[in-house]
Amino acid sequence: TGFAALGISGQLLKATHAAGFTQPKPIQEQAIPAQIEGRDILGIAQTGSGKTAAFALPILSKIIGLGTRRRPKTARALILAPTRELAVQIEETIKVLAKGAHISTALVLGGVSRHSQVKRIAPGVDFLIATPGRLTDLVREKDLVLSETTWLVLDEADRMLDMGFINDVRRIAKATHPARQTALFSATMPDEIAELAKGLLRDPVRVEV
Ligand code: AMP
Repeated sequence: TGFAALGISGQLLKATHAAGFTQPKPIQEQAIPAQIEGRDILGIAQTGSGKTAAFALPILSKIIGLGTRRRPKTARALILAPTRELAVQIEETIKVLAKGAHISTALVLGGVSRHSQVKRIAPGVDFLIATPGRLTDLVREKDLVLSETTWLVLDEADRMLDMGFINDVRRIAKATHPARQTALFSATMPDEIAELAKGLLRDPVRVEV
């Protein structure tokens, strides 16, 4: 039982427990083992369901498993979120779960100096958490190359749609590695999101909580 049975081990399991996560939530029970197996995820889940750890723990587990292997000079994992508040919250959760493991994170948000954001990513980061608008600018102007980014998460995809980010999301996803692993979470599943999921996910495991 617990997170160990879902495939989380070592320091990551310790940090997860230290964060106060001892009993996995339903979304975590469903999504973590599937992602560790390499599957894409289509998650229908609300805020507060525990979806952040559901996507962060499997990616953390895999990145930690890469050990000291050379890090590409870009982001290994990209998390897209609709708002800066959510992006900041996701980064905080990842930092807590990654405690004691050498994991780096960076944020790309509108309203923050582009130069400082690009400089922070240049040597390579494990997790980049971004809102789609600013990230699209950086990708379009080739300030940031995502072709070696092999994990992609779209969080609250329906809100990104409502905010007019859907084409940015498509463009960004296209810039990542074609053999990436992808997870898409949305509270609702309007046609546009179902269509987006169809284009971006490969034979996904559908989880609904
Ligand atoms: P999220 O939906 O990812 O924003 O998570 C909602 C809240 O649940 C956050 O405050 C998390 O810290 C908390 N949480 C997530 N997973 C667990 C867990 N397995 N046990 C206890 N709390 C959790």
